Amino acid sequence: MLIVMLGRPGAGKGTQIARVAARLGLDVVATSDVLRRLADVPHPLGRSVRDIMHTGGLVPDEVVVPAVAEVIRAGSGDVVLDGFPRTVAQCEALDDMLPDGVDLAIELVVSSAEVLARVRQRLVCPQCAAPVAQATCPRCRVAAVRRPDDDEEVVLRRLWTYERETAPVTRWFADRGVLVPVRGTGPAEDVTQRILAALDRSSATG
Ligand code: AMP
Repeated sequence: MLIVMLGRPGAGKGTQIARVAARLGLDVVATSDVLRRLADVPHPLGRSVRDIMHTGGLVPDEVVVPAVAEVIRAGSGDVVLDGFPRTVAQCEALDDMLPDGVDLAIELVVSSAEVLARVRQRLVCPQCAAPVAQATCPRCRVAAVRRPDDDEEVVLRRLWTYERETAPVTRWFADRGVLVPVRGTGPAEDVTQRILAALDRSSATG
C-alpha cells in the first residue's frame, strides 16, 4: 500500500503521518529527511541542497527523484510518503516507479492563515528533526528550537511555492480518482480518526 500525504507546509503532515503509520504498521519516507542527509554531505551538492532548503525553494527534481526512489525501493512497499511528490514531474516519476500506482493521496486541508499562526509556535528537535510539543525533545533530551525555515519570510515563500508548484499535484491525483481531502484542523486525534476513516472507505470501495 502506498499513501501520499499532501497539504500546505505547516498543515501537520509530519505529525499525522507518524500517528497513522504507527497504527497501520506502515513505513514513513519523509523527503525532507532524505534531503537533510544529502545536505549533510560535505560536497557542493550537499551545500546547494542545504541552501535551497533554508530559503524555502524546491530542490530540483533531478536530485529529489533518484534519492526518494532509492529509499522506496529499499523499503517494505507499505509506505506513507511525506513531502513527495511536490511537482507534477515528481508525480509522473512516482507513477513510473510503482507498478500499481498510488493507492490514496490524502490532502490535509489547512488554510494559509492557520499555517502562519501554527508555525509561529512550532518547535522541533535540532537532533532528530521531530516536531516537539515541549521545550525539550523527549527522545534526544536536547532543547527544542524553531526550524530554520520557519522564519516568517521563509514560510511565506514556502506557502507561495506550494500554491505554484504543489497545488497542481492535488489536481493530478484528483484527476486519477485517488485524492481524498481531509480537514486538518482541530485536535490531532480527531484529524487522525478522519484520515483512518478515509483510508477505510477507500479500501472498502477499492
Ligand atoms: P518539508 O519539511 O517537507 O516542508 O520540507 C522542507 C524543505 O525540503 C522544503 O522546503 C524543500 O526545500 C525541501 N523539499 C522537501 N520535499 C521536497 C520535494 N519533494 N521536492 C523538492 N524539495 C523538497
